[in-house]
Amino acid sequence: MPELRKDPIIGRWVIIATERGKRPHDFAVPKEETKNEDCPFCEGHERQTPPEIFAVRKSHSGSNSPGWKVRVTPNMPPLLQIEGDLDRRGKGLYDIMNGIGAHELIIETPEHIANIPDLDVEQLSQVFYTYSRRIQDLEGDKRIKYVLLCKNYGQSAGGTRIRHSVTQLIALPVNPKRVKEELIGARRYYEYRERCIFCDMIRQEIQTGSRIIERGDGFIAFAPYASRFPFEVWVLPEEHSCDFYTIKNTRGLAAIMKSVMRKLSVTLQDPPYNYIVHTAPFRRMASQGFWKTIDYDYHWHIEIMPRLTKVAGFELGSGFYINPTPPEDAAKYLNEGIV
Ligand SMILES: [Zn+2]
Ligand SMILES: [Zn+2]
Ligand SMILES: [Zn+2]
Repeated sequence: MPELRKDPIIGRWVIIATERGKRPHDFAVPKEETKNEDCPFCEGHERQTPPEIFAVRKSHSGSNSPGWKVRVTPNMPPLLQIEGDLDRRGKGLYDIMNGIGAHELIIETPEHIANIPDLDVEQLSQVFYTYSRRIQDLEGDKRIKYVLLCKNYGQSAGGTRIRHSVTQLIALPVNPKRVKEELIGARRYYEYRERCIFCDMIRQEIQTGSRIIERGDGFIAFAPYASRFPFEVWVLPEEHSCDFYTIKNTRGLAAIMKSVMRKLSVTLQDPPYNYIVHTAPFRRMASQGFWKTIDYDYHWHIEIMPRLTKVAGFELGSGFYINPTPPEDAAKYLNEGIV
């Protein structure tokens, strides 16, 4: 019989096929067309992008020239624009404000490399360092409430045909609903038990063991109990922390991310995927006490979602997800390298 599982943080239900669950080879991963034209993100092509906002560079190299390791530029065209005022207003019962925010592209390597498992740990560590620096910098902009970092790999995951590894950064003037749901759920759990729900989840996953994908150097990766998607994986620091930008051990994160992404890539034959970084929102209004316990109740994490299934009417109408591969099986296939 299929199982209905409830996500303990936000209370969302998932239907999980427990019998005859899908195995890795049951998913038809689309082979994607690639673009062999001049890549604007490769070293030496700096003039093909807008001027850089930030870069990790060799000390003697000048901006917008070769000699960088990670480079950040405005995304073209931007989803939101950085200049102007929010001008929040109402039109009857409808709320409206100007599309203020930031949309940046983090170019993860000067070499033409498409996917994370092919970057070395040191390089990937610089990428995560860049994430933290950009969040820190945007905190200075009072109009911004939240910074979302996400990766779209493969065209069916919203990526481009240019196979050069990049991350999108979108800074928002409001807190996204998905994050708010987690914040509310985490706060409710904390009020009741005075513990972080993510820390409790980590403890239970370690105890159970059957959903763990990887552990080491202060980080853990597991297939969440109520996974929405087949082969969904979450990566978290084992030590409690709510703000991604305070990360010191970017190398540890790089090592576990590289390893998890390699397992996904091998087992699922280079699938398209998205990952998102969920971190706490900026708390300049802390004095008002709205997110009073956030430092204790929220825990940053990365959610990795391979794009193997399509969302259909039932999901849209109900908010339920249907997952054809139990997370326990997903962990087993990934760990044993079963294709
Ligand atoms: Zn390139
Ligand atoms: Zn925690
Ligand atoms: Zn999350």
